[in-house]
Amino acid sequence: MNEYDSERMAEILEPLNYFPVSEPGKADLIILNTCHIREKAAEKIYSELGRIKKINLSSKRDTKIAVAGCVGQAQGQEIINRAPMVDLVFGPLTYHQLPEMLESIKTEKGLPKKRLVNIDVPDVDKFDELKEPRKSLKSISSLLSIQEGCDKFCSFCVVPYTRGVEISRPANQIMKEAIELIESGAKELILLGQNVNAWSGKGLDESSWTFPRLIRELSQLSIERIRYITSHPRDMTDELMRSHKDIQKLQPYLHLPVQSGSDRVLKEMNRGYTFADYMKIIDKTREYRPDIAVSGDFIVGFPGETDKDFQDTLRIVEEVKYAHAYSFKYSSRPGTPASMMENHIEEDVKSERLKILQDLIKQQTRDFNKSFEGKEIDVLIDKPGNGEDRLSGRSAYLQTVHMDGKASMIGQIIKAKVSKSRDNSLECVIS
Ligand code: SAH
Ligand code: SF4
Repeated sequence: MNEYDSERMAEILEPLNYFPVSEPGKADLIILNTCHIREKAAEKIYSELGRIKKINLSSKRDTKIAVAGCVGQAQGQEIINRAPMVDLVFGPLTYHQLPEMLESIKTEKGLPKKRLVNIDVPDVDKFDELKEPRKSLKSISSLLSIQEGCDKFCSFCVVPYTRGVEISRPANQIMKEAIELIESGAKELILLGQNVNAWSGKGLDESSWTFPRLIRELSQLSIERIRYITSHPRDMTDELMRSHKDIQKLQPYLHLPVQSGSDRVLKEMNRGYTFADYMKIIDKTREYRPDIAVSGDFIVGFPGETDKDFQDTLRIVEEVKYAHAYSFKYSSRPGTPASMMENHIEEDVKSERLKILQDLIKQQTRDFNKSFEGKEIDVLIDKPGNGEDRLSGRSAYLQTVHMDGKASMIGQIIKAKVSKSRDNSLECVIS
């Protein structure tokens, strides 16, 4: 979602004559778009600011520095206090005001610099204000934000505090943006949301549309592939699961974070489902679309997590058989209920559990990739590969695919035979 926001910021800035440069030393404006989800991500901005400071000193330019994103939203003035070089701080809800913000930090030579923190939640929805037509920087596989914010308040998570309440963009806005992206060369749309499958909104005919209805309408456009990310198990409807069978363009890939396999931990996390509920969704979706690749998110070391709880997490991984998954050590986030719980888990226990979990997931990804050896698959070629006449693309199951071929093939969906599988990619020969 930050990637999407960054693209939109670049589009807003273009009419003001800001264009991407090849290195930070040549920039008049540097915006760090930040993530607050885990402490490590949030702390990264200070080391990055240190690096930029050195570059600025040697380039001797009067470069404006802005901190955007959820760290900006959560820390606001604190960033200005801790990093005097920062001119501007804003959050994910106010970036549409970038032109006005840049105007108000303009400083005349010799006068002290003006600084601004803009993290108030605005009355207007930024999506109504973003008028620049889309021309995605990544055009072939284009991101499209359709839902933002979250009201679920999982006890470990900062998103409801930084991205605000859950909103669904109206279908006419989404369809218009999709058409603009397609006209700029998109072959694949990746629908984004913190809980994208919670989307429900006003349709083109003023009636209320469900998320699968939106996908169906988008699939009528001249687009080759549609994906969506990230889904919440509580919002997985039967209609959505069935869409993976009924809508050809909807790709066989489901990212469905479970976080833990322990019912006790899931309850403490306020996730609103059990091990059995989650398995029911996976089984049902596979009934509709047996080949669907399932991916997930996991947190190990949530406060009070016992060995037995962790074993339940390993058990759910064994049962699901993931194509791919992300896993993290629990990170205590300021202001969240979990941060105030007792029994925080020692760092070395977390590390040990993470290693065991990641080894298991890695093995599953390897097995998943291996099962494709010798098969013919569809690949959307989206960029040049490493080296001359090499190409990179994605399978329908979101595996990275490498192959020999000419750059003129970028943007095409081709048939290719898997000659070799690796831990995180497939090597293919174009058929
Ligand atoms: N809305 C999605 C996830 C969005 S956040 C869902 O609920 O499934 C992306 C991922 O970051 C989460 O799935 C979770 O695994 C991880 N995450 C969020 N807060 C975290 C924390 N405090 N510590 C470690 N990982 C966290
Ligand atoms: Fe965070 Fe996802 Fe829970 Fe919302 S549903 S609070 S985004 S983990």
